[in-house]
Amino acid sequence: TQRDATILVLGRFNDYALQRLSREFRVRTIERGDAALVEAGWAADVKGIASMWEVNAGLIDALPNLEIVGNFGVGYDAVDVKHASANNIMITNTPDVLTEEVADTAIGLLIDTVRELSQSQLYLREGRWAKEGAYPLSKLSLRDRKVGIFGLGRIGKAVARRIEAFGLPIAYHNRRKVADVSYEYYPSLPELAAAVDTLILVAPGGAETANAVNAQVLKALGPDGVLINVGRGTLVDETALAEALENGTIAAAGLDVFADEPHVSQALLDAPNTVLLPHIASASHKTRQAMADLVIDNLISWFDTGKALTPVPETAHVTSK
Ligand code: NDP
Repeated sequence: TQRDATILVLGRFNDYALQRLSREFRVRTIERGDAALVEAGWAADVKGIASMWEVNAGLIDALPNLEIVGNFGVGYDAVDVKHASANNIMITNTPDVLTEEVADTAIGLLIDTVRELSQSQLYLREGRWAKEGAYPLSKLSLRDRKVGIFGLGRIGKAVARRIEAFGLPIAYHNRRKVADVSYEYYPSLPELAAAVDTLILVAPGGAETANAVNAQVLKALGPDGVLINVGRGTLVDETALAEALENGTIAAAGLDVFADEPHVSQALLDAPNTVLLPHIASASHKTRQAMADLVIDNLISWFDTGKALTPVPETAHVTSK
């Protein structure tokens, strides 16, 4: 039976998620998290939000009985957590259920970037193998690389476990040293970049990490440097990155995330030695279904028991009304 609460869905939730959510709650959908799309006739009915993207202060203020925002994704930099926390609104995210999938994609992107798999496939499909002979030897190799991980959290550790199997040394930078790993710790990102030649970004977005990978960090990474980003586009100064690729300051980059998605800057599209993916790191049916289930399970748990399953740390203190 449906609960006595309306869940506002922002943007496109997948069909499976919408169907399941509709069995449990009344559902209303608006195109995006814009307070101007909220109507006076139903604003007061909304007690929860299910969102794949932005939830700003204006939207939160437009919904007087809002109790919880279920963010579809582990990264919640698009949700105004401070405002939610101040207004006793619970925010949940989807940790763990996507960790291994995202780590798999990060490794795929790394190998593609270093060994030019996509580029060489294009060569075959364009008929150039038969006409021009063997594809040129790749300039780069994974052999003898040293890998740095920016953001050794759930996903970062899953990436590190895979890199260990490749026989490569690992170092990392977080704000805090991780207790249960033996990887080398660097207290700053420039120091990490200087110590490695392969930098994998899996840190969260938001103001604190904005443009963390700047011209200085790219220079420190060096001419054999490979940058892989599966964290957030905002982690990287994209103008500096395009210049670094163009000038040979670093060797190559593989990116799954961009500063202004779904738009990718022309400078990056034009830059040499790049593999660019449309934010697909968690995007399999299997994993997206697990994420949808966790969003919905959080909403159900909140309205049935007053407790969320996976609250983000900033709203762990929030209590149900
Ligand atoms: P975790 O919270 O487990 O890990 C985040 C790590 O980043 C922690 O080790 C944390 O360590 C570190 N970190 C956070 N802030 C900073 C900072 N200011 N400076 C240095 N290090 C920092 O998250 P997950 O591993 O589950 O997810 C990580 C991110 O991956 C998400 O936030 C999301 O943006 C991205 N992601 C991207 C996907 C995609 O589709 N491309 C899919 C899923 C996730 P400490 O607190 O000690 O600093």
